[in-house]
Amino acid sequence: MSAADLATKLSNLVGSDVVRSDAVSLQAYSRDATPMFEGLPEVIVAPRNTAEVSKIVKFAHDTNTPIIARGAGSNLCAATVPLNGGIVMSMTKMNQVLEVSKSEMIAVVQPGVTNIDLDELVAKEGLRFIPDPGSRNVSTIGGNVATSAGGLRGLKYGTTRNYILGLEAVLGNGEIIRTGGRLVKDVAGYDVTRLLVGSEGTLAIFTEITVALAPRPEASKYGVAYFDDLASAAGAVEKIISSGILPATLEFLDNTCVVAVEDFAHLGLDTNAGALLLFGDDGDAVSIEQSVNKMAEIAKLASGARGVTLAADIAAADALLYARRCSLPALARLSSMSILEDIAVPRKAMAEVVNRIQDIGKKYGLRIGTFGHAGDGNLHPTIVLDKDNKDEVRAAEAALAEIFALPREFGGSITGEHGVGSAKLPYLEDLIGSTNMQLQRSIKKVFDPAGILNPGRIGS
Ligand SMILES: Cc1cc2nc3c(=O)[nH]c(=O)nc-3n(C[C@H](O)[C@H](O)[C@H](O)COP(=O)(O)OP(=O)(O)OC[C@H]3O[C@@H](n4cnc5c(N)ncnc54)[C@H](O)[C@@H]3O)c2cc1C
Repeated sequence: MSAADLATKLSNLVGSDVVRSDAVSLQAYSRDATPMFEGLPEVIVAPRNTAEVSKIVKFAHDTNTPIIARGAGSNLCAATVPLNGGIVMSMTKMNQVLEVSKSEMIAVVQPGVTNIDLDELVAKEGLRFIPDPGSRNVSTIGGNVATSAGGLRGLKYGTTRNYILGLEAVLGNGEIIRTGGRLVKDVAGYDVTRLLVGSEGTLAIFTEITVALAPRPEASKYGVAYFDDLASAAGAVEKIISSGILPATLEFLDNTCVVAVEDFAHLGLDTNAGALLLFGDDGDAVSIEQSVNKMAEIAKLASGARGVTLAADIAAADALLYARRCSLPALARLSSMSILEDIAVPRKAMAEVVNRIQDIGKKYGLRIGTFGHAGDGNLHPTIVLDKDNKDEVRAAEAALAEIFALPREFGGSITGEHGVGSAKLPYLEDLIGSTNMQLQRSIKKVFDPAGILNPGRIGS
């Protein structure tokens, strides 16, 4: 079917006011936040409700047309780039919080609600939505669920996966299902909710999401410790956790990131340090005072930190958190392209893996800064390069292939929180094995028999 016919048929189905096929719109939806991936969709449609989503997916099924659900397009694994044309279905018009129940500590939302809007709304009830990806100002709950987004609170609180109770979703043939619900305990049948979380738009399209909320903590407190090298910082992380503290925040920056952030934000960071460790906790004021002081003591006395500072007030704490949150923009301004990657390794292997990443950078003549969630062993090696320099682009691709081989060696994963998308699909089988890969393909067939939902990703 021609692109023009596709647009006409979708307009007849759900109204021309939510269908776009002009060149500017198609271009705008040809990329997401992943560098180096691009592909033009044939048409964009933005349904207003579940019935419209169902009609559109059924149409795509019957006409064998690829369909890609898209939230904010902030993913970093080319999960929404239309590599085979077809329909991009923007979920951003379905952006209502349908219910907040303080007594049940849940919210029911449409998928296009942004993470920050949900969190700010439930804050009025003294609650919070735990998953806090760095993209929280723009990314949608639908996108967060489809990628099981993480953030800075993974060690203590887990990721999106731990906060999804129920889903309404449209299968690949247009049928609508409900999984889970509002219950904390429910073991009736296979846990389809959990299977759909992290499925990256390949099994079903979420149209309503029931999330678990948590009480908003009374207080939070942060500190920063500087180390001569990452091994010492990693040693401090191990000692902190083995001392019985489960901190809400344990983030690190390597020296390349510290220098870039200081140059960008002028926060007074120690740019001679080999590694910076940001630590913090939340909860009741007395206990966090104790746990953060203890973490500072462990960093200084037991782990040889060259300097430790505790944030004296909220402004100082915000500055410390900002140092971590602005790592990407700080690195990004060093050249015309930055490739932010995401691997996870057991905590005890973290320092060695970061050193190996630095060696890979040296081997290929590339600048790679690594920051990440030290408590989770979740590393974000970030390559900064000149996008017009073909040699550098080739070198970056080769370096990435070596970086993605590291998790297998250390018992880790090629993605801790960003997802597989198209970018990591070539590396998946090597990690999970051919039997598991075949199982995933079989699962996809059950949910999406025609293979129209986000083709070229997991299950393909
Ligand atoms: C600056 C920056 C910081 C980031 N920080 C983090 C971080 O700390 N932690 C983290 O985990 N990620 C992070 N990310 C990655 C990204 O923001 C997350 O993956 C986020 O969850 C994507 O949400 P989105 O609304 O942009 O989804 P999109 O990018 O639009 O889509 C992502 C995936 O979800 C699917 N999808 C979207 N909506 C639906 C739906 N309704 N039903 C079914 N499938 C759907 C898409 O098909 C796609 O596979 C960051 C990205 C940037 C640019």
